[in-house]
Amino acid sequence: MGDCLFCKIINKELEGEIVYEDEKICAFRDKFPDAPVHVLVVPKKHIESLSHVTQEDAALLSDLQFKIAEVAKIIGVADDGYRVITNVGENGRQSVKHLHYHILGGKKLAIRIEPKE
Ligand code: AMP
Repeated sequence: MGDCLFCKIINKELEGEIVYEDEKICAFRDKFPDAPVHVLVVPKKHIESLSHVTQEDAALLSDLQFKIAEVAKIIGVADDGYRVITNVGENGRQSVKHLHYHILGGKKLAIRIEPKE
């Protein structure tokens, strides 16, 4: 949508280091990586978050899962393993309001995101 950062990257209005693209999905490197390899897998359709998907998006969501695995191979983390995260809303600390999946890898990651209480 008009002001969305990821829509601008998808539409090539803003520079992004794209590692994979097809008609429905785009994957590009995170500009401020949290791991040695950090790529965002994003549907081209503007959906605010996982909380905003509808039944209509079922095929797209399925495709996204497959493409995450494919992108993991392309960026070289599939063999050693990686983590996939999607942040949702305020408590999830989602900063860009366009559904995206983080692929994190390139090192052995911390055991968990939040320590157990
Ligand atoms: P989230 O916090 O889950 O919404 O993730 C948004 C991600 O977008 C963060 O990891 C940011 O580092 C990343 N990011 C912010 N601006 C850009 C940009 N211009 N290009 C690529 N990634 C970005």
